[in-house]
Amino acid sequence: MTVDVVVIGAGLAGNAAACTAAERGATVCLLEKGGSFGGSSVRAGGGLLFAGTDLQKKLGVDDDAERLRAAIVAAGQAKNDPVVVGAYVENQLDTYEWLCAHGIEFSLAPPNADVPTPRLHVTPQGHLTRVVHSRLVEMPNATYRPHTRARRLRRGDDGRVAGVAVTHDGVDTEIAARHGVIVASGGFSRSPELLQTFAPEWAGAVKMGGPDNTGDGLRMAGALGAQLVDMGYIEATFGASADDFHAGTSRNEPEPRLLFPHAAGAVVVNRLGRRFVNEGLNYKAIGRICADQPDGLGFQIFDRQVMERSQPVPTPRDYAGALADGLVVQAPTIGALARALGIDPGGLEATIAAYNDFVRARHDPDWGRPTAGGVTVEAPPFYGFPCRAGLTATYCGVKVDANLHVVDVFEEPIEGLYAAGEVVGGFHGAGYLTGTGLGKAAVFGHFAGRSVGRPAP
Ligand SMILES: Cc1cc2nc3c(=O)[nH]c(=O)nc-3n(C[C@H](O)[C@H](O)[C@H](O)COP(=O)(O)OP(=O)(O)OC[C@H]3O[C@@H](n4cnc5c(N)ncnc54)[C@H](O)[C@@H]3O)c2cc1C
Repeated sequence: MTVDVVVIGAGLAGNAAACTAAERGATVCLLEKGGSFGGSSVRAGGGLLFAGTDLQKKLGVDDDAERLRAAIVAAGQAKNDPVVVGAYVENQLDTYEWLCAHGIEFSLAPPNADVPTPRLHVTPQGHLTRVVHSRLVEMPNATYRPHTRARRLRRGDDGRVAGVAVTHDGVDTEIAARHGVIVASGGFSRSPELLQTFAPEWAGAVKMGGPDNTGDGLRMAGALGAQLVDMGYIEATFGASADDFHAGTSRNEPEPRLLFPHAAGAVVVNRLGRRFVNEGLNYKAIGRICADQPDGLGFQIFDRQVMERSQPVPTPRDYAGALADGLVVQAPTIGALARALGIDPGGLEATIAAYNDFVRARHDPDWGRPTAGGVTVEAPPFYGFPCRAGLTATYCGVKVDANLHVVDVFEEPIEGLYAAGEVVGGFHGAGYLTGTGLGKAAVFGHFAGRSVGRPAP
């Protein structure tokens, strides 16, 4: 088979890249290792960071691309590659408009400590990827191949990447690409070996990424000399459901889920019923601290006041849905809740009583939570969510240039090879900003679909 563009991986990045290239008239083949498309992208319940959108303008939010750039660089502690951040900032608005033109309707998540400017554009979980995929498969010049694992990248006689060796249903074959190959195979949160190499401290974290995200793109590009960047900056996210804990409950969903009632005022305690962190910190920072608690467990404890703040989108704020699905435990008193969760009841009761005093005094002398969270825990019923740090994404990956060509260890572009989405390194630097995982997938996917075939700058 010969096409103009081969795209490896059918998450949001791969679908956006394939769809864009096909809309521009290229013949495209999108490969997916698993039986269904979506990878991590359909598991993510959050939103995407865009700035300067018509939705923001309509709601009176004053924002622009430069402020978005500053926020990304601040979150990354200025360790980000400015070229890669530039590729995002300069292409994000065009991507937003492209998604809207495909019928996607976003809403704006309310501001929070991580994203104080309302710029997190949300849709129901998986919706974006499904819409882009539907558009892709209706185009006659696009082919989608599930159950097709890319194994190796092939170079032509001129050294350009000119195809992919694949295994489809156990049969090895090759697909040639006239204009180039886009690697969009996601991260490696499901690869024990790569985690052991690059993030051994997170080898035991709850694995939340797409089931086939084993870093194949990194290996294939690495075999051609691709440079890897940001490998030391992998972080897990606090608030991943502790699934072992839910064994035997009415839980009806096999995948772990993120839930953030702490962002709405819940208190976080350990098995002893003791607080161990300022709940106002970023969920990555809390994840690190939680990993050191007994069994790596944290319990988000809250009451009716926080439950009333539940909203269906984005998923991490859907506390009511998590209760209905058996992930959140409900009890009439704090003592009963502690017993149901296996927490020391006396410890939890004392912690909550002290915490309520901190809230009333608007001062948290123990952990310095800003304005002590603002919500007491005293209105029954009471709720508890047992959770751990979860690995949702691996953030680091191959180095790319301004047009998303993969760059080798000698800083030379690898002609014909592009990357998009989570497999791209250099964007986040030392810290992840909420909404840039899905954002990076959509923006770089759409941009790669337009870049492919262009010579390196
Ligand atoms: C639970 C969860 C919550 C998240 N929440 C957020 C959030 O709120 N906001 C945010 O911005 N980000 C969030 N993220 C991160 C975000 O979802 C990812 O960074 C993003 O979706 C990655 O998109 P992608 O297209 O690059 O990769 P993926 O969506 O993972 O797609 C990669 C695809 O490549 C396929 N593949 C792998 N190897 C091969 C191969 N050899 N051949 C063919 N196909 C292959 C995989 O099967 C997969 O389908 C979350 C992630 C998870 C798991």
